[in-house]
Amino acid sequence: MSDFKQNIKEQNLSERDKKHLWHPLTQHKIAPEMLAITKAKGSILYGEDGKGYIDGIASWYTCMYGHCNEYITSKVSEQMHNLDQVVFSGFTHKPAVELSEALIKILPSGQQKMFFNDNGSTATEIGIKMALQYHHNLGNDRKVMLAFEEGFHGDTFGAMSVSGLSVYNGAFEDHFIAVVRIPTPNGENNAEVIRKLKKLISEYKIAGFIYEPLVQGAAAMKMHDAEGLERILQICKENEIICVADEVMTGFGKTGKYFASDYLETKPDVICMSKALTAGLLPMGLTSCTQQIYDAFYSDDIAKGLFHGHTYSANPLACAAALAGVELLLSEEIQENIKRVTKSHQDFHNRIKDHPKVINTRQLGIIYAFDLNVEMERYGNIRNQLFKHFMDRGIFLRPLGNTIYILAPFIIKDEELKKVYKSIEATLEIF
Ligand SMILES: *Cc1c(COP(=O)(O)O)cnc(C)c1O
Repeated sequence: MSDFKQNIKEQNLSERDKKHLWHPLTQHKIAPEMLAITKAKGSILYGEDGKGYIDGIASWYTCMYGHCNEYITSKVSEQMHNLDQVVFSGFTHKPAVELSEALIKILPSGQQKMFFNDNGSTATEIGIKMALQYHHNLGNDRKVMLAFEEGFHGDTFGAMSVSGLSVYNGAFEDHFIAVVRIPTPNGENNAEVIRKLKKLISEYKIAGFIYEPLVQGAAAMKMHDAEGLERILQICKENEIICVADEVMTGFGKTGKYFASDYLETKPDVICMSKALTAGLLPMGLTSCTQQIYDAFYSDDIAKGLFHGHTYSANPLACAAALAGVELLLSEEIQENIKRVTKSHQDFHNRIKDHPKVINTRQLGIIYAFDLNVEMERYGNIRNQLFKHFMDRGIFLRPLGNTIYILAPFIIKDEELKKVYKSIEATLEIF
């Protein structure tokens, strides 16, 4: 063994990480050391520290069928030996064709065409571009996007622009596309939201409305009123505003339906997907749209096409993972698991809901959240303290401020769920 190799072998991964790596969403000067994960199976992440951690947020809502799911890894492995990668401009392949056919069966009605990309931010970026270029191609002067105040749609420029303003985006604000915002409807403020929407429509030339249907993930699993959203979508449709549903978080069964848009009557024109799309195995995004959107780009004029393309668009391995994921989602086993976890959360909710420290409880399908009612000033950074509380107990939850939420893989075992609940109930006594 060379000196170099011997040297690095003495340090653990967390230490070696510090030398060259720059992590996402991290201020390294104040962030704790990164825990190295060496293995994952089902709902469990295994750390270099030798401990197991229940993945209570399915690694950012991706691996819903469990980590290293054998059906999915076998399908990808099969694909890997046959076709690894090919340019998707000018070529096509079976995994992409089959995936499009499988998705069309579960997507909300009206969706017809699918555009591949490679992550959630580009999925929404393309959704925004579809809305803007749709009107551009039709000769309409509409250049403004409409969005919810606290939405999150990703970290590329278009996606950042339509996301709610936050301290993190400060350096880029001058470069944002034009966006106007409305609050989310909560039932009580619906009339006010509609009034504001109508006023904005009369004042601005709005091309599209981008929204996370019913659940806003990054805004701390904030849930809004379906009737209110329905009304907003109707008004957008009446005014030829393209409705872009960002289902990157809500898609693929988590809300109790295949897509959150399935709870609504007014269907989106465009749907953005990623995260659980590939079952947590490989990065991929997808933006689907109606025939009407596609037709506005279909022309003898080459400039009317959608000139957007990523090198790894429709990567066959990612498509194979996604196709296997859709097959699992449709299986009786997974549908039963979704019902089981949903019911389990309801029972947990009934147990804690009257506790004075439990407020703003909310649930849709297997997504459960509440806010911990504590004097925030007493805790320097409650989020970090909660995070540590859970990790110390072998649970990976990622509180957002004082919001504690669970979004575990569908296949999480009852005894694992019990441990998660117990660690949450402990916060009610400790904090
Ligand atoms: C995570 C997320 C995105 C961004 O996806 P990335 O793959 O992280 O770029 C966009 N929209 C929503 C609703 C998300 O939850």
